[in-house]
Amino acid sequence: MKNWEKNIRKVVPYTPGEQPKQANIIKLNTNENPYPPAKGVYEAWKNFDIDKLRLYPDPSIGKLRDEIAKFYNVSSEEVFVGVGSDDVIAMCFMTFFNDDKPIIFPDITYSFYDVWANMLKIKYKQIPLDDNFEIQTEDYNIENGGIIFPNPNAPTGVLMPLEEVEKIIKNNQDVIVMIDEAYIDFGGESAIELTHKYDNVLVIQTFSKSRSMAGARIGYAIGDKKLIKYLNDVKYSFNSYTLNTMAIELGVKAIEDREYFEETRNKIIKTREWTKEKLKELGFIFKDSKSNFIFARHETKKAKEIFEALKEEGIIVRYFSNPERINNYIRITIGTDEEMKKLIKFLCKYL
Ligand code: PMP
Repeated sequence: MKNWEKNIRKVVPYTPGEQPKQANIIKLNTNENPYPPAKGVYEAWKNFDIDKLRLYPDPSIGKLRDEIAKFYNVSSEEVFVGVGSDDVIAMCFMTFFNDDKPIIFPDITYSFYDVWANMLKIKYKQIPLDDNFEIQTEDYNIENGGIIFPNPNAPTGVLMPLEEVEKIIKNNQDVIVMIDEAYIDFGGESAIELTHKYDNVLVIQTFSKSRSMAGARIGYAIGDKKLIKYLNDVKYSFNSYTLNTMAIELGVKAIEDREYFEETRNKIIKTREWTKEKLKELGFIFKDSKSNFIFARHETKKAKEIFEALKEEGIIVRYFSNPERINNYIRITIGTDEEMKKLIKFLCKYL
């Protein structure tokens, strides 16, 4: 081994979802939105003044920050914007989770949390979900250095009612509690209102799902202005995590169009409910999902076989081989009605 190799920060690499290049693939594997971004986004892209790229972007991302604040009826000082919610969460880990007490999050949950904790050398403890894939709030009444959980949870899609979320917060007012609401717009009640009642809460959301902008990389955190200031202090000190000028302008247009947002998320919810019915009829077993995906196993057929048969057909879903508890599951993103009909039609033939 070379000397420099000893100094490398070695991590067990995260495996991102497959992004196939072929045309005609039905892509239901990474929880993207099947509908295009709002019309105004396209217009802003077409009319973008290229000369603006000479200059650095506004480090405070002021314009977009103001629009997000307006949408949620909070002040701009309560909003932190970053390069996708992944980066916002990583930035929060860096800013708030320095204690030597372990931070806690569920097992099963979004698989990036332990990756970041390991990268940043933050101790953590995972709390198993119950047999219904639900978070038991009393399990979180233990000494800890901070808490994070998605609501709805990923990859299960299971939603925790807001009263339950508040129980966790109430019992953990000495640490930062982060609620990752990447999928909240598909049927959940946001904890944003609780950020006014509790100054230790951060709600993290994204433009990647309900606003069809995964490629633009826009995420944000809403919380007490003191917390947001701490986040900005860290961000400015790294001179990093700033959206590019074009993403800022396109993001403004995406959040301005409330009508399109309502229309597309309601369409996805309706398609999800239809898909649930059909999957049930076909012998799939799953917990109720309030997100834009369904996490399911089949009563007789192995998930891996279903995944491979679908792939052969040009329909890509996500197969979970790990951890052990969920190794017989597939996760199906909700696509358009047409895509879901094709999926169900194939499964009817195949099963
Ligand atoms: N949180 C959860 C629970 C997710 O599933 C995802 C998407 N993979 C993210 C955060 C990150 O989303 P983005 O970085 O695109 O905002």
